[in-house]
Amino acid sequence: MNVIIFGPPGAGKGTQAVNIVKKFNLHQVSTGDLLRNEIKNKTEIGKDIENIISKGDFATDEIVNELIQNVIFDPNLKNKLIFDGYPRSLNQAKNLEKLLNKSNQKIDYIFFLNVNKSTIIKRIEKRKILEKRSDDDLKTILKRYDTYMETTRPVLDFYSKNINFYEVDGSKEIDDISYKIEQILSV
Ligand code: AMP
Repeated sequence: MNVIIFGPPGAGKGTQAVNIVKKFNLHQVSTGDLLRNEIKNKTEIGKDIENIISKGDFATDEIVNELIQNVIFDPNLKNKLIFDGYPRSLNQAKNLEKLLNKSNQKIDYIFFLNVNKSTIIKRIEKRKILEKRSDDDLKTILKRYDTYMETTRPVLDFYSKNINFYEVDGSKEIDDISYKIEQILSV
């Protein structure tokens, strides 16, 4: 099966994705991680990406679509994908459908982790201390939240009409959220 998990920054997508990967033997596709890898490996586009991410902006669809394409067409990962942080725009959502069609795959479950702004800010401040991510200062957090609201909302509207769409309360404890998601995936 293929799964999408999305929601505002700090909603716990990454944490839940890791749990689902373990329980259901899937492969986590985090565009944030893919982008950070480009920076770490000092690739040609890595420098541009670093500039974009540190400001709290989105990487261009062109860059992201290129990175995601390699994963979708990897035969070892077919029907084992969990997308975390992708798609983040309508353009990306449509591109994902196109790539999945082309590779004879589909999305089986879509989860929207819903949390309010104050919970997110508290969580990211904590993560900043634990993981020391450069994009985690408060100004960037608020920018990321606003970018999310502007750009990713249409993705929510796009997916929420699907019968395999599930909204999950992301302000609950990690284990409660995991339990809820696992129940849905086990049916
Ligand atoms: P994340 O690790 O998902 O929180 O992403 C960290 C940062 O990477 C975001 O704030 C964006 O700048 C960038 N990013 C991650 N995924 C995408 C995406 N699908 N499209 C554009 N930019 C992205």
